[in-house]
Amino acid sequence: MTPLLTSSSLQVRYGPVEAVRGVDFEIGEGEIVAFLGANGAGKSSTLNALVGLVPVAGGKVAFAGKDITDAPAETLAPAGITLVPEGRRVFGTLSVADNLKMGVYAIRDKERIAAAWDRVYSLFPILFERREQFAGTLSGGQQQMLAIGRALMCEPRLLLLDEPSLGLAPKIVDQVFELMETLRRQGVTLGVVEQNVARSLEIADRVYVLAGGRIATQGSAAELATSGQVQNVYLGGE
Ligand code: ATP
Repeated sequence: MTPLLTSSSLQVRYGPVEAVRGVDFEIGEGEIVAFLGANGAGKSSTLNALVGLVPVAGGKVAFAGKDITDAPAETLAPAGITLVPEGRRVFGTLSVADNLKMGVYAIRDKERIAAAWDRVYSLFPILFERREQFAGTLSGGQQQMLAIGRALMCEPRLLLLDEPSLGLAPKIVDQVFELMETLRRQGVTLGVVEQNVARSLEIADRVYVLAGGRIATQGSAAELATSGQVQNVYLGGE
């Protein structure tokens, strides 16, 4: 495994709250890595710190061999990392196409921009059909696809997804997990925070389970699926 992203002793604090207390992990090129754990375990804080949305209180983050600790958030999409935050924040009063256009700022080359449009519209034909509609008129699942499509417009090498299946109907949850596998086949590396443990263990290569801001368990998804260790962390707390 060639690490694409490496986190060493990463810490995040909110005033007195130590949300992330020194986590070490790697996301290898071409992998799907899942971050699991109960509410408040520090998963979102970890992802947000990787992309500069919350300050890193300690430790280091390296991406493609470069130190990106404390890099300004707006420099990371051009560098090849994008995060789809929790809660599918699309711009409801802009059209679907205008939402997608906002994702393309990191690319200048016209041919690459045209290729990005083709790719996103072929992954999500529904977004092409609805390209002129206000994003706010889309269903929850379509809005999640739009949020992911917007992140894909800047051709990330590493796509980070925070709870992409949360609150979606079971059929749409299936589509979100299938999409992750499709993207991986297309060469995108994925880091995903998920509450759907069973499905995550099916699609991920490796898994980190967080508890109390630390990594409680890690391993290949196949190992963890049979060992019951993931369930122990959830049931046993920290
Ligand atoms: P969830 O699934 O609930 O989002 P999580 O594992 O992603 O959980 P985080 O959201 O990273 O966990 O939260 C970790 C800890 O940090 C929790 O104790 C949470 O209350 C606290 N926290 C998160 N964001 C803030 C904030 N902006 N200000 C203060 N405390 C925060």
